[in-house]
Amino acid sequence: MDLDQLIKTDGLVAQTAKFAKEAHKDQKRLSGEPYFSHLLETAKALAGWGLDEKTVAAGFLHDTIEDTSVTLEDIKAKFGPEVGFLVDGVTKLGKLKYRGRESQAENIRKMILAMAEDLRVVFIKLADREHNMKTLSALPPVKQKRIALETTEIYAPLAYRLGMQQLSGELEDLAFPYLYPQEYRWLLENTKYRYEERVEYLKKIKPLVEKALNEAGIIPLFIDFRAKRYSSLYKKLKRYDMDIEKIHDLVAFRIIIKNIEDCYAAMGIVHKLWPPLPGRIKDYIAMPKPNGYRSLHTTVMCLGGQIVEFQIRTEEMHRESENGLAAHWAYEEAKTTKEYRERGASRARPQEIEWVNRLRTWQKEFGEDENFLNALKIDFFRDRIFAITPKGEVVDLPDGATPVDFAYQIHTAVGHECVAAKVNQKIVPLDYKLRSQDIVEIITQKNKKPSADWLKFVITAKAKYEISAAIKAKQGTFRRKERQTELKIIAEDRLGLLKDISSIISRSHINIANANSSLFGKGNFHQMKIRCETEDQEKISKVIMKIKSLKGIREIESRLI
Ligand code: MN
Repeated sequence: MDLDQLIKTDGLVAQTAKFAKEAHKDQKRLSGEPYFSHLLETAKALAGWGLDEKTVAAGFLHDTIEDTSVTLEDIKAKFGPEVGFLVDGVTKLGKLKYRGRESQAENIRKMILAMAEDLRVVFIKLADREHNMKTLSALPPVKQKRIALETTEIYAPLAYRLGMQQLSGELEDLAFPYLYPQEYRWLLENTKYRYEERVEYLKKIKPLVEKALNEAGIIPLFIDFRAKRYSSLYKKLKRYDMDIEKIHDLVAFRIIIKNIEDCYAAMGIVHKLWPPLPGRIKDYIAMPKPNGYRSLHTTVMCLGGQIVEFQIRTEEMHRESENGLAAHWAYEEAKTTKEYRERGASRARPQEIEWVNRLRTWQKEFGEDENFLNALKIDFFRDRIFAITPKGEVVDLPDGATPVDFAYQIHTAVGHECVAAKVNQKIVPLDYKLRSQDIVEIITQKNKKPSADWLKFVITAKAKYEISAAIKAKQGTFRRKERQTELKIIAEDRLGLLKDISSIISRSHINIANANSSLFGKGNFHQMKIRCETEDQEKISKVIMKIKSLKGIREIESRLI
């Protein structure tokens, strides 16, 4: 969709553009530009992604409620409820702030999706963020840091999962100089000429490759060079002792070919020209990366002894890896996050893959299906709510949770000493059902003991357990129990599975405190949580070994609780 064209007509987009220009007419960006420039760039990005007119229109209006005297009612009355809904959604997201706690990042990403209710709201937020990042230099340094951090930790990964790899990489690159100014300068000084040198070099070998391919009757659809982004180069350099000589894919040579057979043939031809380095041929077509990425990679000793990485794939694979699908994130994250390293696997967890799959389904429907807007409705967090502490931390709770559940989730002592709760600054009863985005403040009183009545309304296991324990302790009947170990098992559903598992556990003389099982994902998977009354990790690891040998077990992890 061409935005210039749309603005010239007197349709919805043109009307909102005019309206926004008028509403913000006395405002300037910190960069000195008229405020409207920001709105225009936001709308342009949305149009560029092929989004519908209402979304582009909402792009023009996205800052009106927050920054001008225009109200949501005005917008609804003038431009309809849907545009109003989108603008309202972006306004709400604007209030969410990430304060740099890594443990919170995933919750916030989920919360953004849950709050948005409609992916188009997220797209507008991303377009807004992209332009804000491009103009970040106009802001005071403290703000630059906060916004850059939020962009790297929240919005770039979010874009990645939505399959917007291009945007995600760009956001990372825009944030990088603000977060790592010294490292950025170092990279510029040490790599800039190398990039240029590399591209010049690859241009020289391009005709050689083309000629050899043509002689074999293979016509590449296109050949291009892909320069590694600074932000990802930096991550990789850290793993290679900052030795740039070891980075062979600084600029990769990419060949896009019509069909799979020809991909293999093309790799053979490249190897005939130049010898491959041992162990550097990767067939991600026969064995896709865990995230679904498909391509052939090979690294060869090229003209003049230079080492070059070739990536060979079909157009479909290329499109998938480039923009469409959320294919890369799980693997890339797997390589970098601590949690994964500790698990010692570069495999995404099933629930994350499931998340990607759902996004992938949308992406497919997106643009093809006439009703694609319905496919953008976010409903997979329907059974979760995200409540917020007065300090802005997000607490992930099951639907139906109460302030007491919230209190225990924060800390056992906060739960025990809870006497009252405020939700959005109003006192509510303790059995109040929380809703997403509620700001919850727990009022405590020193040495207060929990009430047995709470057991009638709390719904989280933690609250139930702690309340019962405290009551028993008060009655003098409670001895401090051993801690328990929770096993989380993901398995294909089959008859007798739970029985097989529980008999392994009881044969090891471990009592089961409780067990539950829920359907998981789209397939025939079940997630089981089994609490074992032991803190003996040696015993547990033997049990895990045995359970792993059962048929259909996909994943098992344990934690002390
Ligand atoms: Mn904005």
